[in-house]
Amino acid sequence: MKKAYIHTFGCKVNQYDSQVIRDSFRSKGYEFCPDFNEVDVVIVNSCTVTSEADRQCRQLIRKVLRKNKKAKVLVTGCYPVRSSREIKDISDRIEILPKTSSYNSGKEDKIGINKFEGRSRAFVKIQDGCSNFCSYCIVPFVRPKLWSRPEEEVVNEVKNLLKQGYREVVLTGVHLGNYEYGLVNILEKIIGLNDDFRIRLSSIDVGGVTDELLGLMKSNPAKICAHLHIPLQSGSNDILKKMKRTYNSEFYQKAVEKVYASLPDAGVTTDVMVGFPGETDKDFDLTYNLINRLKLTRLHVFRFSPRPGTLAAGFDNRVPENIIKERSNKLKALDKKLQETFWRRFIGKSRLVVMEGKSKTAITDNYIRIFLDSDIKAKSGIFKVEIFERMGKPWGKLSEVNEPVLNQ
Ligand code: SF4
Repeated sequence: MKKAYIHTFGCKVNQYDSQVIRDSFRSKGYEFCPDFNEVDVVIVNSCTVTSEADRQCRQLIRKVLRKNKKAKVLVTGCYPVRSSREIKDISDRIEILPKTSSYNSGKEDKIGINKFEGRSRAFVKIQDGCSNFCSYCIVPFVRPKLWSRPEEEVVNEVKNLLKQGYREVVLTGVHLGNYEYGLVNILEKIIGLNDDFRIRLSSIDVGGVTDELLGLMKSNPAKICAHLHIPLQSGSNDILKKMKRTYNSEFYQKAVEKVYASLPDAGVTTDVMVGFPGETDKDFDLTYNLINRLKLTRLHVFRFSPRPGTLAAGFDNRVPENIIKERSNKLKALDKKLQETFWRRFIGKSRLVVMEGKSKTAITDNYIRIFLDSDIKAKSGIFKVEIFERMGKPWGKLSEVNEPVLNQ
């Protein structure tokens, strides 16, 4: 049997695509191994969202070429779409593997997975592509045009994953709110499945946070996780405009307030960018203060990275590196404070969790990562834990009221 290895960089959509690639190689007689030194084919599913992502991809490719002199190295994902030359220049042993989808045709090959290897929570891609062209973002250039998977295909895939034992399914896409057949509609169909499981939405643009969606989440707390990841990027309207985002800070604020009004215990996480060209101290303060005021529960902080071909790559007024670093550190400290304030609210209370792989941590419905007491280390499915504090971290012990926990 031929042997293969795959490494995935980047987002949940890429993680999903890697599973599709694994399945496709298996059907051609390959077996996957955890060590790239021993295989015939190494697949690198790349990301090009920042120059740092590019650097990490090149670094891994070089390492593979150095350590495994015989393997064929196939590079796929977003980086070769942006620049196959940069990849091919590394070595003539590299081949570019076209993505699982046909680029920019607006159509995707019929795809699907039955399992999600190496994870206890399965991702299901329901949508791909973006046509917004935010000024800093490379995504519209490297992923297909807007594309949505038919409802029936999505529901069947979820059914198959539930049969395999997955208890949390994360719906992913570049723009879930743009799911062609209606996000609320597909959620209703999925939660109608008669099984013990829960759904989480991966990331949703602020325009997708509708009353209808919040109403569905509120009336189905056991089936839809009380967690929304709503990218903010900046709290300054001047910067949002230059970024070509489609909302302003007031709109964002109202949306988050609506989430908390409907789902008071919800986790609301976000992406935020520092150092966009022209970002002043005042702009940064607006971002910092908005996040702090809204009590967002976790931040992913990104530094501006000029992506060749995007509008913002040509913008003047670059923010000096030392200031970008300082702002990034301030937001990371804020993130730490917000996360801690959030989980401490739940000390002595119970939440539903699923384990994360074979690790000693679990994720609550409202997206708190907790450490597990020894008696529940190997538990499967969804279970209820009581949260307590140990050495400044959130821990969980089995709640007195235990399974069955759904539909209570
Ligand atoms: S940041 Fe803008 S362009 Fe990039 S994926 Fe999101 S909406 Fe699309």
